[in-house]
Parts: sequence; C-alpha cells; structure tokens
Amino acid sequence: MGKLVIVSACLAGIDCKYNGGNNRCEEVVELLKAGKAVPLCPEQLGGLPTPRPPAKITEGDGRTVLSGKSRVVTVDGTSLDVTDNFLKGAKEALKVASLLKGKIAACILKEKSPSCGVRKIYRYEVDELKEGMGVTAALLNSKGFKIVSSENKDEIEKLLKEIL
Ligand code: SF4
Repeated sequence: MGKLVIVSACLAGIDCKYNGGNNRCEEVVELLKAGKAVPLCPEQLGGLPTPRPPAKITEGDGRTVLSGKSRVVTVDGTSLDVTDNFLKGAKEALKVASLLKGKIAACILKEKSPSCGVRKIYRYEVDELKEGMGVTAALLNSKGFKIVSSENKDEIEKLLKEIL
C-alpha cells in the first residue's frame, strides 16, 4: 500500500499563511502532484480567517499549550487569545492523521510556526527564535506520528525516495 505524507498546506503552495501568502516547497509540491501529500492548515481548521493576525505562544511551547499551562496570543497589538482555535486546529489535524493511520509515513511541517514548528518557534513579544514545537506538531508527535521539519532537507529527500 502506498504511503502518504501529511504536509503543512502552506508548503504545498496554498495561500493559507497568516499574511495570505504561502511557503511553497518544491519537494512537497512533488509529493502533492504524485497524490502522496495530504495538505492541512491547522490554523484554518481551527476557524481562523486568512489573512489573520500573527500569533505566538506565551510560555514554553506547543506541549505547554496542550497541557493548559500556556496560551497562544496575537502579536499585532490586539492581544487576542486564540488558544482555542489553535487547539481545535491541532485536534482536527490529528483526526485526519488518525483516520489515515497506518498509511502515514510522516508529517512534513513548516518550521518556526506556532502551530507547525518542529524544532523552533518564536519567543513571545520578541523577534527571536527558541527551541520548541508548535501546538499541532506537539500533538501529532505525542500520538506517535513522525514529524519532519520543512528545513530538514536531508530527511525530506529520504522520504521522497521511499515514497515516490
Ligand atoms: S505553518 Fe501551519 S498553520 Fe501556518 S499557514 Fe502553514 S499550514 Fe497553516
């Protein structure tokens, strides 16, 4: 049975990014064209509009948000609490991943995003990166799905060789 890869939809060229743009990644588009990619945007699945204000995790990372000890808040001056949207989006992404369980080889997720970041996210209120995962990445990872950073080109190449 052919394996599938869940991908951050913005990596597939879909304009779902907070500013209405995308983060097109040619390897992910190749998977999509071959019918092997399942594109998901957790922030849209969580009910947020596009474009939307950028948001960051206030303390810790996605794991801290999942445990109820941190929040996700917009950082464009509006300080809106969008934690529930981020949690809903993560749960919806997990729902799709679970429906396809057994067929999912990995999830390629957009690095640095408060939803999809695998190794790095932004610190709250400063323009600096720190180690950590986004909320959806943390939930998928905690349920045993292999998550791969969009910046890990070696791992992505390996996946493509296995799957295509
Ligand atoms: S990084 Fe994730 S949440 Fe952000 S636009 Fe891409 S798919 Fe959506």
